[in-house]
Amino acid sequence: MGLKPKIAIYDFTDCEGCEVQIVSLREKLLDLEKRLDIVDWRLGQEKKESGPFFATIIEGTPITQDEINTLRNLREKSKYIIALGACASLGGIPGIMNKENRAKWCEKIYGKEYKPRGIDALPLQAYVKVDFFIHGCPVDQKELEKVFSDLLSGKKLSYHPYSVCFECKMAGNECRLINNRPCLGPITQGGCGAVCISGGSPCYGCFGNREGANIEGLKKVLEKITTKDEIKRYFSMFLNKN
Ligand code: SF4
Ligand code: SF4
Ligand code: SF4
Repeated sequence: MGLKPKIAIYDFTDCEGCEVQIVSLREKLLDLEKRLDIVDWRLGQEKKESGPFFATIIEGTPITQDEINTLRNLREKSKYIIALGACASLGGIPGIMNKENRAKWCEKIYGKEYKPRGIDALPLQAYVKVDFFIHGCPVDQKELEKVFSDLLSGKKLSYHPYSVCFECKMAGNECRLINNRPCLGPITQGGCGAVCISGGSPCYGCFGNREGANIEGLKKVLEKITTKDEIKRYFSMFLNKN
């Protein structure tokens, strides 16, 4: 038992949907626990050890100084830091709100006297080195299994070597751009199976930019089919903190 790698699972500001994906592994999680020891996980168990950890998996983004301190402390005592989901990897949904908007909405909702404690929601790598990003909002269960398995077998963690467009073509979808409908698939890291496009929605880039993405090239294409405000809105969903 004592020889199993110790894993911690932490969360900051987020919706906890990615952790629910871990819980939803069910029997597969029990199988994994024969090979690893989850020693700290607020959402999943009462057991709590203070480290050091083989790997710490972190969901969400820190938005207070205390949370930033906790993150830095986790970095010091973890061999691997793994960002879990779009909030941790990109700032995600919490990152849509910036300082100016926060001040405006806080005043509107809570009144002039209220002093918000939160700061802009930035991705984990704004504060510490991150060893791997499990992309998605929420993350995919198969991807989770692969990361756990690769970590335990000492295999190098790796990303899919293609964009969402590749998966979109494999799924047999007609390209939205050809029909003058925006999409961020060409610059987005593959791995989701182009689930949004297959379901009739555009890709908003929740898997983050793929390596070597030609962002300016895509913007030029988008400028021919929609307004600058619309393009800004697309990029503000997940990619505005990159
Ligand atoms: S990435 Fe999406 S599903 Fe995961 S915690 Fe953030 S908002 Fe929730
Ligand atoms: S619809 Fe989007 S993801 Fe699919 S091929 Fe076109 S640009 Fe790429
Ligand atoms: S299609 Fe784009 S927005 Fe949808 S899950 Fe995939 S990466 Fe995320």
